[in-house]
Amino acid sequence: MPLMKSWVASANDPETHFPLNNLPYGVFSNNGHDARCGVAIGNQVLDMAALETAELIRLSNAPVFDLPYWNDLMELGPETWQALRERLHEFLREDAPERAQVAPHLVPMADVTLHMPLVVSEYTDFYAGRHHATNVGTMFRGAENALPPNWLHLPIGYNGRASTVVVSGTEIRRPLGQIKAPEAENPSFGACERLDIELEMGAIVGVSTQMGQPVTVAQADQMIFGYVLLNDWSARDIQAWEYQPLGPFQAKAFATSISPWIVTKAALEPFRTTTPERERELLPYLKEPGPMLFDIDLAVLIEPQGAAPEVIARTNYNQMYYSAAQQLTHHASSGCAMNTGDLLGSGTISGPEKDQRGSLLELSWGGKEPITLQDGQTRSFIEDGDTMILTGHAQGNGYKVGFGTCSGKVVPAPSFP
Ligand code: CA
Repeated sequence: MPLMKSWVASANDPETHFPLNNLPYGVFSNNGHDARCGVAIGNQVLDMAALETAELIRLSNAPVFDLPYWNDLMELGPETWQALRERLHEFLREDAPERAQVAPHLVPMADVTLHMPLVVSEYTDFYAGRHHATNVGTMFRGAENALPPNWLHLPIGYNGRASTVVVSGTEIRRPLGQIKAPEAENPSFGACERLDIELEMGAIVGVSTQMGQPVTVAQADQMIFGYVLLNDWSARDIQAWEYQPLGPFQAKAFATSISPWIVTKAALEPFRTTTPERERELLPYLKEPGPMLFDIDLAVLIEPQGAAPEVIARTNYNQMYYSAAQQLTHHASSGCAMNTGDLLGSGTISGPEKDQRGSLLELSWGGKEPITLQDGQTRSFIEDGDTMILTGHAQGNGYKVGFGTCSGKVVPAPSFP
């Protein structure tokens, strides 16, 4: 598919993340007005609440855009999602008949504040990247036992916290926690010393399921509304002491950042690709009927206080062993009810090469091989004042379907009350 041309000139720039082919959904505020739904087009935001008030668009009896979240639109279902996308194309394409009515409702992106694009119902995080699981398992348990015996048969996950999922730009306070060094006799309580990122994609569930009702992988794929970049901030020292036998808890509960624009599954359709070859045949309920992953180039940048941002890793979403659709199918397989607004973290996305690793734990190999930045500073883990930035896009023929960025600056730990 070529670039779809828009009358919004900046949307035709081959480098923009937000051409007409994309049309991602966010929540914005400006000039003291309340936060409401908007669509990114080039360097502009289309004010959906204003379009609704002007009766240029109406998808249900109740307004769905003059709200600080996209959940109500999601609940209208996939046919309405498709109708909205078609209407937006009509409004914004090069020869749009309604250009004159729509143009007054564009706001420069530089003038808006972006907010959480949805109310996250619940957050589940998976561990479905094979290179990451192998790297971490090798460090924690040795190369012979790197992958747990269940890993090639099911997408391992844990229930995380929706309460601390925050939008890109939110400062991240270094967590306090219980830490025990391997040689120490007793644990201590204090600031995390091994603070890390995890480069992930987040899948947003748009269609709910009934308790007790499993779904197929094909159905699960249809239930997904869209995707965001996701940084699963991780306190490695807290994690190492607390994680057995029930998995991560406080090491992950303090913060998860997402990018502000939900890139719809519809926008990603041209970039579908397959999961890697299976080493063990999957049970029938997890088999994919077609390509369920997406070819999305991803990068991690670090911006130390006062320095320029620089790339420390590049990888691709196509490295996942399990797709979001498989994860959703597995999640609902027991009869677990899934809700509109549920967020599924993919698991850390690392590639096979050293500079393709999606966490500092892997990049510095547990702190044994610190990375050197361009100005000579080294990093094993994140220091106070560092801003960590994720970015990503699918590359089309002369255009990008991009996610913007997902960033967070780390600030010092609080003192204990
Ligand atoms: Ca994770």
